[in-house]
Amino acid sequence: MLNNANTESSILIIYTGGTIGMVENPKTGVLEPFDFGYLNHNIPELQHIGCNITIEQFTPPIDSSAIKPDLWAKVALMIQENYDRYDGFVVLHGTDTMAYTASALSFMLKYLTKPVILTGSQLPISKLRTDGKENLITAIEIAAATINGHPRVPEVCIFFENHLMRGNRTSKISADQFNAFESYNYPKLAYAGIDIKYNDSVIRYPANWNKSLEVKPNMDANVAILKIFPGITREVVEAILSIPTLKGVVLETFGSGNAFMDEWFLNALSNAVKRGVVIINVTQCVTGYVDMMRYETGHQLMNTGLLSGYDTTTECALVKLMYLLGQGYSNEKVKQLMEQSLRGEINR
Ligand code: ASP
Repeated sequence: MLNNANTESSILIIYTGGTIGMVENPKTGVLEPFDFGYLNHNIPELQHIGCNITIEQFTPPIDSSAIKPDLWAKVALMIQENYDRYDGFVVLHGTDTMAYTASALSFMLKYLTKPVILTGSQLPISKLRTDGKENLITAIEIAAATINGHPRVPEVCIFFENHLMRGNRTSKISADQFNAFESYNYPKLAYAGIDIKYNDSVIRYPANWNKSLEVKPNMDANVAILKIFPGITREVVEAILSIPTLKGVVLETFGSGNAFMDEWFLNALSNAVKRGVVIINVTQCVTGYVDMMRYETGHQLMNTGLLSGYDTTTECALVKLMYLLGQGYSNEKVKQLMEQSLRGEINR
């Protein structure tokens, strides 16, 4: 029986795929998605956990490197369909794109008042040293936890290797360590040791618990990430910024939002902005924030019409652009909302 969870809670597990449920192909030795029945078989503890657990799965389960916006929408709509029947949701997902999916769900699920906890693992659950069992069982405990009659963490989160993080603040930082995710610019929401210690003051609680969930599944993928580097050529920058269907760009710059000041570069940016492309300035550093007023180089970028990404992750900035562009808002409204915190994704 779980310690901190409300044992009357009903939890829906949505298994999308990923290493957690993979098995080795005996012929090739590579990991492939397998049927979820296998996962159930490998965690008999699930039957003794004390909460009412239901499992739904993607058929076929997919490696998260194949995730696309329509699959984010599929998860969001599955949550909407089951929203009144369950107290919390655990989404099992491959680690590779989990940070993108967590960001996407945080925007798609407007007025969320229940936990949506994403987790996965670095080793399949069938392996003796798997991290999957711990991650899954603790994610369920967090999804079932309550305080004063309300869910303890009514947010889209990633739980991985002891830490609960706000989903849209998280990045995958390691391809091979169990400690694979980090939230550099926002404190952890909880730490799971012998007990789960919640950091209540940084958890986002809804202003109104009675507001109904609204699902916004539309995303516009006409966006790009442009990472500058010393020596990047005019041809590369102009080729990207002149794509006719382009609507949004995450420009990854140096330090506090700086870039070289070559005239062709500033012209390419301002021409794109004039065409209606929304460009967000995001730092290549893993911690800290963009401040275009600190240096002349950043200030010049601001003058071309770039928006500040503040302390956002690149993953979140990109997905937020897709989300806002997908709502059919005017260019001005997209720009205005990009610089506001909608789900606690930036410090504003
Ligand atoms: N390639 C896998 C995936 O993201 C890796 C993992 O699950 O950790 O689906």
